Amino acid sequence: MDLATILLAALLPADPGGASDSYFPADPIRIEAEDAALSGLTIETSRAGYSGTGYVAGFDSADDSLTFVFTSETGVYDMLFAIAQPSRFGSWTITIDGVLREGTFVGASGAFVERKAINLFLSAGEHELVLNAPGVEVDYLLLNPVVYDPPTVPTATLADPQATPVTRALLYFMHGQYGRQIIAGQQNLSDVNYIKSVTGREPAMGAFDLIEYSPSRREHGSNPGRSSENWIDWASSDAIVKLMWHWNAPTDLINSQSQPWWRGFYTEATTFDFAAALADTSSPNYALLLRDIDAIAVQLKKFDDADIPVLWRPLHEAAGTWFWWGSKGPDAFIALWRLMFDRLVNHHGIHNLIWVYTHQRTHDDWYPGDDFVDIVSCDVYADDQSATMLSDWQDLQNLYGDRRLVTLSESGTLPDPKVITAYGIWWSWFALWTGDFIRGVDQQYLTEVFNSDFVMTRDELPNWRSTVSIESVVAERKLDLSPYPNPARDEITFRYSLPESAPATISVYDLLGRRRASIDLGSSLTGEVRLDDNLQSGSYIAKLQMGSQSVARLFTIIR
Ligand code: CA
Repeated sequence: MDLATILLAALLPADPGGASDSYFPADPIRIEAEDAALSGLTIETSRAGYSGTGYVAGFDSADDSLTFVFTSETGVYDMLFAIAQPSRFGSWTITIDGVLREGTFVGASGAFVERKAINLFLSAGEHELVLNAPGVEVDYLLLNPVVYDPPTVPTATLADPQATPVTRALLYFMHGQYGRQIIAGQQNLSDVNYIKSVTGREPAMGAFDLIEYSPSRREHGSNPGRSSENWIDWASSDAIVKLMWHWNAPTDLINSQSQPWWRGFYTEATTFDFAAALADTSSPNYALLLRDIDAIAVQLKKFDDADIPVLWRPLHEAAGTWFWWGSKGPDAFIALWRLMFDRLVNHHGIHNLIWVYTHQRTHDDWYPGDDFVDIVSCDVYADDQSATMLSDWQDLQNLYGDRRLVTLSESGTLPDPKVITAYGIWWSWFALWTGDFIRGVDQQYLTEVFNSDFVMTRDELPNWRSTVSIESVVAERKLDLSPYPNPARDEITFRYSLPESAPATISVYDLLGRRRASIDLGSSLTGEVRLDDNLQSGSYIAKLQMGSQSVARLFTIIR
């Protein structure tokens, strides 16, 4: 994390909703089976090695039940039972707060051993757990809290070295935000407005589709109208814009009754061979690729002209192969991605783009490369409405998490922020797909999600544009500087150390980069110095400079 990222993080509300502070490691919960409520079961003591005053046996009917009532804190727990069982497989059913789960204990054992049943999220409060496990003897229940760390924040770099200041500011802001709150997005302007009307909160990010600007659709009469202008108006100077493009193939549309022209972004609706086009830069079809990218450049330029950065997510879900840009394998796809990058960035000079690549599980060889991608995303359409998408998150974290933000660019279900963050899942943003996907979400639940402390809505966005002036302040670690106490309620003191005896200065800047104080130090190698300046409440940077070396630290004054 560079200093600019830290500083931008500091611009977030002082208490980010308590979001990442909510999950302290809870204590394990252990309950002896013989202390639970038994139905059709008996307490035994003949098998040695139990804890407490005995163990529970006699599961021989589906009506038998062992009921535990316990109180937990909010968080994720591994649920284990200390059991003995004569056979290798012992099936179980667990009803937790009325929800039935089923599984199997694996491994015969004459001694009591802890076997994990499930891993689950529990809200703070009282819970009821009912166990039935034929042939299994139960010594105790153990719930072990599992703490998932928030993600590593990667270094904020942009694939486009000429990215505009506001584009850099947005990415830096998003890096600072990562692991603290998830930015609320939504596909489609009418659905953004729907969420606002239902929940009272507006998504911070609008996700829009340039589909109707595809030249081959316009040739068939589609009319995007003033879509770009409307999105620009909506975004104003505060909201975040994400654009995608269901690129209708430039030519060779099948255009039959079953594959009409307007399905032309699907592989099955076109015979267009873009790999062949790319292989011959003098071919008419290559020229058509450029024609289409150029048409989209016109739209992207409008955002640039309005000084609105764009999270640009073209050529999505390629490895799924259902879109034509994924129909010719990874090499052709990567070539097309890089052509688009070069055409937009270098040829057209569009420098307001943050490039978002959509990864498909197991297709790791489709990645266009760090020089062409800023953020890596996935689109997840789960069957289970309560899906956590943990494995999708972990997959992206393992592949890209050390160097790119990871996000949920599309989903068919709305993950519960309080549950997924307990699992350490901190997508940069989420954006539910349009239409029935969003309209079908229970409105009370929708309201909870958009009012969650873990979710950042439009009204909660800080002025991320103003933060870019801090960029020039770079942390180095050759000197050391430590403000204390931090935060400080009245006066702040700086402890410092120097690598050699030489003149050095501590300067204090506010977050707009204005110098507010300066202290010349003696030449002792270590020391401390008090700041005699009544700074107002807020966050500041203290920068220790010695010759060409410097180190900067953030501190906060609270009055
Ligand atoms: Ca026991």
